[in-house]
Amino acid sequence: MTHIAVIGAGITGVTTAYALAQRGYRVTVLDRQRYAAMETSFANGGQLSACNAEVWNKLSTVLHGVQWMMRRDAPLLMNPTPSWHKLSWMAAFMREIAHYRQNTVETVRLALKARTALFAMAQAEGIDFDLKTRGILHFYRDRASFEKATAVNALLREGGLERYAVNPEEIRAIEPTLAGTYHGGYFTPSDATGDIHKFTRGLAAACARKGVRFIQDADVATIAPGEGGYAVGWRRAGDHAAEAPQVLQADAVVICAGCASRHFAAMLGDRVNVYPVKGYSITVNLLTPEAQTAAPEVSILDEAAKIVTSRLGDERLRVAGTAEFNGFNRDIRHDRIQPLVDWTREQFPLVDTDRVVAWSGLRPMLPNMLPKVGRGRRPGVFYNTGHGHLGWTLSGATAELVAAAIAAEHAPERVVLPLAA
Ligand SMILES: Cc1cc2nc3c(=O)[nH]c(=O)nc-3n(C[C@H](O)[C@H](O)[C@H](O)COP(=O)(O)OP(=O)(O)OC[C@H]3O[C@@H](n4cnc5c(N)ncnc54)[C@H](O)[C@@H]3O)c2cc1C
Repeated sequence: MTHIAVIGAGITGVTTAYALAQRGYRVTVLDRQRYAAMETSFANGGQLSACNAEVWNKLSTVLHGVQWMMRRDAPLLMNPTPSWHKLSWMAAFMREIAHYRQNTVETVRLALKARTALFAMAQAEGIDFDLKTRGILHFYRDRASFEKATAVNALLREGGLERYAVNPEEIRAIEPTLAGTYHGGYFTPSDATGDIHKFTRGLAAACARKGVRFIQDADVATIAPGEGGYAVGWRRAGDHAAEAPQVLQADAVVICAGCASRHFAAMLGDRVNVYPVKGYSITVNLLTPEAQTAAPEVSILDEAAKIVTSRLGDERLRVAGTAEFNGFNRDIRHDRIQPLVDWTREQFPLVDTDRVVAWSGLRPMLPNMLPKVGRGRRPGVFYNTGHGHLGWTLSGATAELVAAAIAAEHAPERVVLPLAA
């Protein structure tokens, strides 16, 4: 049977493993963490948001980035220390401004397909992930930002998304707990929210039931061509770096390693310029009936503050945001968490913020903000990575796409040629 090694057990790796197992491949997933979904797929914003498909490649993003450089609580923060990785990424980001329109429309289309695929997986496997199908509400505080949003809305609609303008009274009716003053908003009834970690763990369990092998605590060190396929060299956490790695032989490899994908791509002769764009979330524990009533059920996106919310079950409100260009630094900075707490208090004053769990994660982002999905330069090398700020939203579709690309080159049953007479 054709054996595929998947590197990474975040949302992209586990959905890929599932799509491959469904097609009859022998699949092994390797991840350096003890469990699936412990890195960026751990505590993100929770939104399955076709409505957030606008790519960031705009001159205004660059200008804001420069203006905000000196503000520690800014939604977008850049560590000015130059590095080749950051500079080359920025230069490519600027070049992609020319493709803003088509990349936004393509992202919406992908997000709509992904939603259907993800819901189908959850239903087939009976996964409880605190799914809430109450829609996503964007709000704007002034006329100018609402008018800009109207132009973006035209692109989202071009991609097939049903989304409409709402006035302040309608905002209040959609989500009565909101306490601020708003000029207007846009509502996407079909968008949804859910817990990425619970989903990924549930799907990993389903994969295991289908025969997928997970090698956890396995730090992949090398991937090299060998024996008609690839030799994946890995070490257990704690193994001495000088020891020879253990080797897994596979017919093909799929790189789903989040922010480490650039490193593996370089090993395999490809350039996949993923940059780690850091973000933060807080999970507000809603421990009293009063706090539960005061917290929103409908998911919110505040475009100006770049903050999103998701209600995860009765007892948790996830609030996430900010983008920081600071390399692989994962520190949870108080001055970056406090704006999330302050924002929660302003919009939902009756929600207690005394039990808040802070988290940081690194978005694996490509300069054009579209994921890299499909084959690499060498036969037997595939990618499903670089989903940036929308990995939860897009991975249902990209897993199917990469599995189809693999099927085009490798039949699930390995073909053994007869020996020459
Ligand atoms: C604050 C924040 C909010 C977000 N909000 C949303 C949202 O609301 N909606 C949305 O759609 N998206 C959101 N995202 C983006 C989304 O979370 C990511 O795109 C997604 O989780 C990325 O998944 P991944 O599988 O690519 O990466 P990961 O989940 O990081 O998985 C990669 C895996 O590779 C493994 N790995 C790496 N190197 C090695 C190695 N050497 N050996 C073995 N294993 C290795 C890691 O251990 C990891 O498990 C948000 C992100 C952040 C940070």
